[in-house]
Amino acid sequence: MTESLAAAIWALGLVVWFAIRLPYQRRARKIQTETAERTLAERLLLPAATIGLAVIPAIYLATGFPGFADYEFRPWMGWLGLVVEILFLALFHASHRWLGRNWSVTLEIRHGHRLVTDGPYRYVRHPMYSSFWLWAAAQALLLPNWVAGLSGLVGVGLLYFGRVGAEEALMQKSFGDEYLAYAARTGRVIPRIFRA
Ligand code: SAH
Repeated sequence: MTESLAAAIWALGLVVWFAIRLPYQRRARKIQTETAERTLAERLLLPAATIGLAVIPAIYLATGFPGFADYEFRPWMGWLGLVVEILFLALFHASHRWLGRNWSVTLEIRHGHRLVTDGPYRYVRHPMYSSFWLWAAAQALLLPNWVAGLSGLVGVGLLYFGRVGAEEALMQKSFGDEYLAYAARTGRVIPRIFRA
């Protein structure tokens, strides 16, 4: 594994991510929304995640900036990054498949929204966010630069911690006891067997 191959894996991951999301994004436009939480925080979180996961690493790969933050690439980091990248894309794809028409890019309850508790949602309440954490970890392993490697973790951290509480409150308001019972038997991003 070379440094340029690792960079290519990162870039290909972004393309595959987009290809997985596109059909859902198209479909979502046609599904009516009942409740939408468009707070200022919610509006800032997605751009923050995009900057960390795409803009900063893309600038780094295109220009080498910020070169002062480079460190030595090691092949094992590239191999491990490839494995984590594959896990990320598989989980991202599975979450979209199971969430189906209930998916939104922001916090929303759709017309006819159903609480999904199957597939990856059987083990964790936020498998798509679990996949985002894996994405950020893969980026840190694939790009040997303190800024471009770690900016994904900062972006995902802001999105996750800024949103998950409000999302669960919205789900509880919409699904009541059904959501409470579901939350009691699942972990947030890590299955319960490992952690509460
Ligand atoms: N946090 C989830 C979903 C992200 S998409 C995950 O990480 O997999 C965000 C939208 O999904 C929100 O608008 C919310 O209404 C919806 N949502 C979250 N969990 C859900 C569930 N278990 N069933 C149905 N919709 C859900």
